[in-house]
Amino acid sequence: MNSAQIAAVSVCCGVILLFLLVLILRAAFCKNKRGDKQFEKSDKDSSVIQEHISEALTIPTVSQVNEDEVDWAQFEKFEEFLRRTYPNIHEKMQKMVIGGHALTFFLPGSDPLLEPIAMLAHQDVVPVTPGTEGDWTHPAFSGHNDGEFIWGRGALDMKNHLIAVMEAVESLLVKGFAPKRGLYILLGCNEEIVASENSSAAKIAAFLKNSGVRLKCVLDEGGGVIPLNVKGIIDKTLVGIGVAEKGYLDVELSVEAKGGHSSAPPAHTALGILSKAICAIEKHPYKAKMPDFIYDMLNIVGKDVKSFPLRLVTCNMWLFRPLITFIMGKIPAAASVVRSCTAVTMCSASTAPNVLPQRATAVMNLRLMPGVSVKSAVERLNKIIGDKRVKLRVVKANEAPPVSSVQTDTYKLAAKLLGSGTSDRTVAPYIVMGATDSRYYHEICDEIYRVSPFETDVSLLLTTHGTNERLPVASISTAVEFFRAFIAERCAF
Ligand SMILES: [Zn+2]
Repeated sequence: MNSAQIAAVSVCCGVILLFLLVLILRAAFCKNKRGDKQFEKSDKDSSVIQEHISEALTIPTVSQVNEDEVDWAQFEKFEEFLRRTYPNIHEKMQKMVIGGHALTFFLPGSDPLLEPIAMLAHQDVVPVTPGTEGDWTHPAFSGHNDGEFIWGRGALDMKNHLIAVMEAVESLLVKGFAPKRGLYILLGCNEEIVASENSSAAKIAAFLKNSGVRLKCVLDEGGGVIPLNVKGIIDKTLVGIGVAEKGYLDVELSVEAKGGHSSAPPAHTALGILSKAICAIEKHPYKAKMPDFIYDMLNIVGKDVKSFPLRLVTCNMWLFRPLITFIMGKIPAAASVVRSCTAVTMCSASTAPNVLPQRATAVMNLRLMPGVSVKSAVERLNKIIGDKRVKLRVVKANEAPPVSSVQTDTYKLAAKLLGSGTSDRTVAPYIVMGATDSRYYHEICDEIYRVSPFETDVSLLLTTHGTNERLPVASISTAVEFFRAFIAERCAF
């Protein structure tokens, strides 16, 4: 080896060593900034708020796909309960009922040039699955408070949130709240009906748009505060702020055929042709692609990982992003945040074993990443199937709304307040898998965030829409304080 080659090898080794040093230094020293703001102590007795949540849960405001089956008297009862419980809101804010039972309240700001903010919640809850009523530890519409939990349908989704917002605003108004920015409270009545053509939130948003209203920000359900403790790896409470949500699409695939007796079948029946199409679709999943907000989330959470070898990866996401994306794409639960997903869920064909099907159908449910339109998804399905005998029909669809930025004052304020005063909380953006009413507001608002300031855990969250849905009593005060602080501060600038 001559001297020039030795020099070249030395330079290469030096660069590699320097590169490794950068990775190790980042792994050793990167950390998240911690908030230092403390909430003001609530001066309202938390037991009164607990009673209000309990009472809200005793009113079965159940929404139904067929609106004729909805017991609207319960919504009227709920409205009467709100009127009785929050007199200042009803006295000082302009109330309007839209589309029958959606409720809107508006407090004008002192500066009409500033766009108002909107706090969203829905009054409706999902039904209790028939036959499971007896499985509940306390009846689903009892609102029973055992000192540790308040039990009932809607305890987590989302009468807890609705009542906390009402409590926060009521208490601000009692103290003479006169904000610079206007404030809306917008309470839909059929959020639980997926992709409803009759969405009350869509009606409210359309009404505001037609009235020339633009909103500074919208805060809705979604997100969460969940302790994450994996021994030796991470020990933090994760706070997710939903900056995005997925689009929704139900597509029916159908094949028509002659039918007849199964003793003289063609090479492929309608069901056979349909099955081939389904196989082709399952063979071609969407490519995993990590969106920037998931990258931001992993970057933030990664800095709180404790185990050193793992930190080499989690603190150097800029380098490992493609590898992490690839790995996430292989794990179904993780894959759902890095790509659009397709699931074949329903199928029907002949009604008898010896009868050829004259028509075979299947239904697919797709959850689309932001940026993937319903139209492009249908075109992609047609291309993959490549068989004109298979017809596609969109049954239900909702486009994914645009992603809200993490650089806005609204996001920063919510993040500060949700992580405030604690060294054990990590606040990060993420994508909400289900649909929320907030999606209808993107035409009149750019800053849409989904939060749940109630600290729960994964096992409790799994009771949402299920048996024994319940809210930890200890989570209530902080949640009300969050809304109070958020509204007071966000309406002030
Ligand atoms: Zn909900």
